[in-house]
Amino acid sequence: MAYKSGEAVVLSSDLELLHALPVAILVTRQGLICRANAAGAALLEAGTPGDLQGRLLSDFVHTLDKLRSSARLHQASAPEQTGLPNKPAEFRIRTTRGNLRMVLVSTVGITLDGAPALLICGMDMTHQNEIQEQLRESEHHFRRVFESMQDVYYRTNAQGVVQHVGPGVRRVLGYEPHEIEGHTAESYYPHSSDRDAFKAAIMAHGEVSDFPGQMVRKDGTVIDISISSHALFDHNGDFAGVEGLYRDVTQRKNLERELQRLATTDMLTGMANRRSFLEVAEAAFQRARESHAPLTLLMLDLDHFKTINDRFGHLEGDRVLAEFAQATRHQLRASDTVGRLGGEEFGLLLPHTTPTEGADIATRILEAIRALELTDSNGQPYRITTSMGLGTLSPGDRSLHDLLDRADQALYLAKRRGRNQLAVLDAGSDGTMAAPAAPP
Ligand code: GH3
Ligand code: MG
Ligand code: MG
Repeated sequence: MAYKSGEAVVLSSDLELLHALPVAILVTRQGLICRANAAGAALLEAGTPGDLQGRLLSDFVHTLDKLRSSARLHQASAPEQTGLPNKPAEFRIRTTRGNLRMVLVSTVGITLDGAPALLICGMDMTHQNEIQEQLRESEHHFRRVFESMQDVYYRTNAQGVVQHVGPGVRRVLGYEPHEIEGHTAESYYPHSSDRDAFKAAIMAHGEVSDFPGQMVRKDGTVIDISISSHALFDHNGDFAGVEGLYRDVTQRKNLERELQRLATTDMLTGMANRRSFLEVAEAAFQRARESHAPLTLLMLDLDHFKTINDRFGHLEGDRVLAEFAQATRHQLRASDTVGRLGGEEFGLLLPHTTPTEGADIATRILEAIRALELTDSNGQPYRITTSMGLGTLSPGDRSLHDLLDRADQALYLAKRRGRNQLAVLDAGSDGTMAAPAAPP
């Protein structure tokens, strides 16, 4: 056959001549084999050429050669390359029986039955001893790396069905590779949003690196993973799937979560620490201001706490702080945040809460603290009380500090008024307060 640059080679549907050729010939369209000659079927160890019809060409290409192969096919199928065979190159292929072969391949874009297709010529080079030895060595090396890899190699098709998964999946997900292959990757994601975010990133950038997510192991436990992958494209440039690695990063994530917890929690009371409370409060302040939602802030300070320390010792004082924290938390909703602002001073952030609702919650807390039954080391019962100031978001507030200041002034007022009560600054007035909760 003589090829001329830029000129389409039109073959008749009569393939007799091709069948007689001693080189393997495959014709593909959109990655699928549509014709093969006898030598092609023999090379791929298929029963007859017909058995290859409709199979994906890439299924026969070795994992390590897939990218190079699809890039070359893509190039050869460019319209301006029609009729120009590319330079022969060696590829590792796997036959239908799973045997490895080294094949010298050249490809040319053709027009067959009026439509573009690729004609692939392959010569088996496997018999050459040196190549065979190299092939064995490379395969051995590849297997060793592949089997011992801590990461999980995987490849999906365009529909997200897992085509191939490495043995690392046994350790990471507790499945055998064959249990995963043939299923969509979706089934292993506990949150479909993780998978959607991953897909969107792959589609937007063509690749992702260290992308976070979670997966479910066979035993039902959820693990944290990190994925590095790239999109695969067939020779038409159409999306053909994803290939990459994922690894179990649960230990690292647990450590990060623990560090985050240590950095944001007050150890004695289990509440948010001052810095973390102020961060949450700042965010809530901005949100409430933007959405014109009510926001109430309570400031608490234990009454005469110095006396508790003086009478019962510092350790007992610590225990009281912990009990106080538990009793207070008991009165709050999941959306509320309580933080330790200082020694025996606390902040309570109540989003979507009007001053009236906030005063109700404060009254409940005052009562819960009064009702706390504490005993000293001699078994003598004693009680504690707390003072509270309430501040509420007002349209004139420029920053969170305005709100904190008002709650703080109200707290000071509650102390002045005799402690064990709630005080609210009457906004707009000269600092006199609205009805305080009466002491028992
Ligand atoms: P008031 O009613 O005016 O608030 O009186 P008070 O004694 O509570 O106020 P003051 O601020 O004078 O004292 C607070 C005390 O709290 C002083 C300090 O020893 C104690 N304190 C602060 N942090 C801790 C802590 O972590 N553990 C213990 N046991 N005591 C603490
Ligand atoms: Mg105090
Ligand atoms: Mg104090």
